Amino acid sequence: MPCCWCGATRRPSSSRCGLNSNAPTRVARGAGGIIARAPAARGGRQGGQSPLMSTRFAPGLAGLLAIVAVAVHPGAATAAPDPLVTAVRSWSAPENTRLVLEFSAAVTTVAPDSGEAPSLVVAIPAPGLGRGPEAPARLAVADGVLDSVRLSTSAEGGRLELWFHQSTTFHVLTLPADDEHPFRVVVDVTRPGAAAEEAARLARIASVKAQTRTRVVAVDAGHGGEDPGARGPHGVIEKRVTLAVARALVAELNRMPGVQGVLTRDGDYFVPLHDRYRIAERMKADLFISIHANSSRRWTRRDRGSEVYFLSLTGASDQADKDLADLENAADLIGGVPRQAEDDLVNILYDVKRTSALERSQLLAESLLDHMAADRRLQSRGVKQAGFAVLKSVEFPSVLVETAFINNPAEARLLASPDFQRQMGRQLADGVKDFLGRSGIGFAVPATGTRGAD
Ligand SMILES: [Zn+2]
Repeated sequence: MPCCWCGATRRPSSSRCGLNSNAPTRVARGAGGIIARAPAARGGRQGGQSPLMSTRFAPGLAGLLAIVAVAVHPGAATAAPDPLVTAVRSWSAPENTRLVLEFSAAVTTVAPDSGEAPSLVVAIPAPGLGRGPEAPARLAVADGVLDSVRLSTSAEGGRLELWFHQSTTFHVLTLPADDEHPFRVVVDVTRPGAAAEEAARLARIASVKAQTRTRVVAVDAGHGGEDPGARGPHGVIEKRVTLAVARALVAELNRMPGVQGVLTRDGDYFVPLHDRYRIAERMKADLFISIHANSSRRWTRRDRGSEVYFLSLTGASDQADKDLADLENAADLIGGVPRQAEDDLVNILYDVKRTSALERSQLLAESLLDHMAADRRLQSRGVKQAGFAVLKSVEFPSVLVETAFINNPAEARLLASPDFQRQMGRQLADGVKDFLGRSGIGFAVPATGTRGAD
């Protein structure tokens, strides 16, 4: 059972990574499978609706009592609490800095959608807007992109001021609330020149690879930034575990002659799903491995072990699972990425390149799982297929590794352990080595220890 906003199939009863409810539609099922899609209920946190109006309609006596209560206290149905700014956070990525404000209810903002300037003011004309204890009035970011932020509130509403390190481009967007996330105002501030630097870095990796026949392995740490992924006991958070394991895997790969591991994210920030494999494509990667941790809504003893996924062109085992995979693939909305139009999947359905990539993806998945389960510390749940958005490149074999269950108390302890993270990195690296041999891809051992750019 795969996790999260990686865009995978998930059973309706699971809530891994908190993304099932983040999608814009809810799937209604009938005897024949999916019968309808309807706007998802929002649980009363969005749009400034009154709590009474936003709760699920309950017919019968309860509904009658509610009507009587409104008649007796006509103000009760409209008395929504004043909106509150509940959090102000920033995330520094290589190419941009993202500022996120969380609200207790939806608000409107007055600001340009985008532009270029040395500073920015976002007006929030929400009478009675307050600031919660977790929302600082000032935030010093000072990361070379965003210097500082000030949030002030008055009876008329709020005023958010941002001072950039230098004049640069920005984007302002709002994200609706869902069952897991509150209404958010997001400002993305571009790091000047960073896109060109990143393009040059990836081109260097590709160039060195072409010269040395080094095999480049793109290692993708799931989640990041405002998307924490799934959570386990004792504060274990998936996005931290995935980055730790990914770094351990890259370190192991870089000890192997003729192989270079490169991370798609090397910090705590959001990377859209499609950007993850496009980064790998730009560096001419030979393999793509996305690291995640599994989770289930209510943990049972059956929720344990490791599994490795590769892409299914038809979704998972049945139509319902395919629709759920589509639902998951809308999860980029968590970071404000518009849902992609039905992509080129149909056009390339019979493409030879795709078929070859899928065959090699299965072999890679089997090779990795063999080594992950070799010490019997984790049970093998098998190699599986689902419609993950992050696995859609046709340029290389791609797999998504569910290392272990983060909401399984014993496995959460393992996932949080640096020893286990290093061991998982070693096992996955052994699996990569095994795959390179079994697939015939092979690799050249550089005579002088030449290695690609980092
Ligand atoms: Zn995940």
